[in-house]
Amino acid sequence: MWKSSRLNVWNANISPMCKICNQQIKTSKHLFFNCGYSCDVWKQVLSHLQRHPLADSNLELEFAIKKARSTKSIDKVYVMLFTENVYDVWLQRNSKVFRNSLSPPNLIAKEIVFRVSCRCSELERHLLIS
Ligand SMILES: [Zn+2]
Repeated sequence: MWKSSRLNVWNANISPMCKICNQQIKTSKHLFFNCGYSCDVWKQVLSHLQRHPLADSNLELEFAIKKARSTKSIDKVYVMLFTENVYDVWLQRNSKVFRNSLSPPNLIAKEIVFRVSCRCSELERHLLIS
């Protein structure tokens, strides 16, 4: 449960809405998988693997967990992208909360792919379509 959700139970005056889109109740599932901003970033990131996001965010999370156990290069790259995506969405959420600033999804997607490509082996890097 989000800290502010717990505070709302105590009648603290904190908005329960998503800090990025301000259209849905903030939950971790919404922030990382269902927020329009997050979906836009993830869609652009996945395009580098020539994939589209799964329609159901629960399936995407299950897919990521399954791929995290794999030793295949394509799965390693997917998991690195997934992890970086979640981390960057969290950073953007914090940037919006504390600086009222949000980077465009395409810029975040490029930074994610760049960081992952820097950490990849040469073989894995070739799996990322530019
Ligand atoms: Zn949102």
